[in-house]
Amino acid sequence: MRKSKRILVTGGSGFLGSFLCESLLADGHEVICVDNFQTGSRRNVMHLQGNPHFEIMRHDVTVPLYVEVDEIFNLACPASPIHYQIDPVQTVKTSVMGAINMLGLAKRTKSKIFQASTSEVYGDPSVHPQPEGYWGNVNSIGPRACYDEGKRCAETLFFDYHRQCGVNIRMARIFNTYGPRMSLNDGRVVSNFIVQALKNEPITIYGAGNQTRSFCFVEDLIRGFRVLMDAPDGIELPVNLGNPGEFTIRELAEQVIDLTGSRSKIVTLPLPKDDPQQRQPDITRAREVLGWEPTINLREGLTRTIPYFASMLELQDSRESS
Ligand code: NAD
Ligand code: UDP
Ligand code: UDP
Repeated sequence: MRKSKRILVTGGSGFLGSFLCESLLADGHEVICVDNFQTGSRRNVMHLQGNPHFEIMRHDVTVPLYVEVDEIFNLACPASPIHYQIDPVQTVKTSVMGAINMLGLAKRTKSKIFQASTSEVYGDPSVHPQPEGYWGNVNSIGPRACYDEGKRCAETLFFDYHRQCGVNIRMARIFNTYGPRMSLNDGRVVSNFIVQALKNEPITIYGAGNQTRSFCFVEDLIRGFRVLMDAPDGIELPVNLGNPGEFTIRELAEQVIDLTGSRSKIVTLPLPKDDPQQRQPDITRAREVLGWEPTINLREGLTRTIPYFASMLELQDSRESS
């Protein structure tokens, strides 16, 4: 039997964090979920609260944290452009000071630490698809920089703590991931389009809609997190985790309209500044080193996500009418 560990998940009540907590508990681990609830919600982890191995702490990772743990997953950081741009200074602090504190904690407790990095470290990429060896194309002073450069600096800190202090690190560069438990007002494209389609409201495409993204279903991604964290030592390298299936934003809108049977029309709005034109993970390393690849394609993933948003909208409607 696998040994039960005490595992800290920062950002544990967010979209990805909640699935991770669930997966770790299901394997018999003890989970401490740390969150300041900036974008996460207690509702995401409500079903775990009766579990005696689960504990929630309201805490901001920019502040030092003293707990005794065996492993740390550092996910705390708003991930949607509209949220991380509301308070960009806080976004940088969360990534950078959060990384320093969690690495300090890992160093003291000799625990292995996982960083939720991002495909945004590649910026608006001039190499396509993006392998981990590509250094990226980021505007360091633009509106997305608080997130992109914050995450890049966190990567630097992880590798410096590894080289200088011997901290055992794992690093996933996550590409656009979607699924149930994204909040209705998350602002990212998949949740926006599904909510708009279900309400028969206009679907808002930013720009011409020919920019691309590669969408991974949450279940595949969390399996990737677990395999990466549990992989034997010696793979202290960033690993792309994402689904290589690449779609234009217009294609995504059309699939969502089709799957929801919506009467929504497509409208176009201005393209936000520095919006990357294309994005697709090269997952050769994940395949070769971890034996991981996603199995759920966009159509199936959307089909599994739409009912969640439908039920959240029903709940919202019933609250408003009561
Ligand atoms: P999310 O916004 O749902 O979750 C982030 C969580 O972090 C929230 O619960 C939020 O309240 C918490 N948080 C934010 N600042 C904090 C702070 N200072 N202290 C404590 N908690 C804080 O987003 P998500 O999609 O679940 O993303 C989780 C992680 O994965 C983030 O680090 C994000 O950058 C990374 N990531 C996600 C994607 C994706 O497509 N979902 C892609 C690339 C990277
Ligand atoms: N830290 C923490 N929890 C711990 C150990 C350290 O939050 O259990 C914080 C600590 O406050 C410090 C940061 O992590 O600001 C970095 O720690 P490190 O030991 O690398 O640096 P130092 O304390 O020497 O500045
Ligand atoms: N997007 C869009 N309509 C929306 C939300 C987003 O057309 O309502 C576009 C956005 O401009 C970007 C892509 O969809 O080109 C993905 O945006 P998201 O915010 O989900 O993630 P990111 O840009 O960080 O990949």
